[in-house]
Amino acid sequence: MGVKKIVTGVFGEEGFITTKLDSAVGWARKYSLFVYPFVTACCGMEYMSVACSHYDLDRFGAALPRFSPRQADLLLVVGTISHKIAPVLLRVYEQMTEPKWVVAFGTCTCTGGFYDNYATVQGIDTILPVDVYIPGCPPRPETVLDGIMKLQEKIQKSKQEY
Ligand code: SF4
Repeated sequence: MGVKKIVTGVFGEEGFITTKLDSAVGWARKYSLFVYPFVTACCGMEYMSVACSHYDLDRFGAALPRFSPRQADLLLVVGTISHKIAPVLLRVYEQMTEPKWVVAFGTCTCTGGFYDNYATVQGIDTILPVDVYIPGCPPRPETVLDGIMKLQEKIQKSKQEY
């Protein structure tokens, strides 16, 4: 039996204790993001910049990239996604641990960008759920950090699963 079920059983549905528990778990989750960077194109240069010390992604608890999807809960999709690579992206997403989140990093992942052609996925939200969109070609590191903070806010306010 999960922690939440025990607490709910004792204090009733959606009571004071469960609300506080949700808030505490949300706080912990938003500061312990394990990033899987799915990098395919030029936006990768900005990802490297954000991950380095000058912009210090570690402040958000998201410093260490994981290259096994089973150890990751944040999929950062960085760069152009072609229809050929799309099944690989989906496979990575499906293998990630729950709860998981997806960030579309750059205009290509958000909409296909200027690759308006038969070979390019016209926005990754046509193949998987996206939590935050970060526009820009490429986005500035500050814009990426803003997107990460928006994701943290979303995680904190979400109803937590246990
Ligand atoms: S959004 Fe611009 S910089 Fe990023 S992958 Fe597409 S073309 Fe490259």
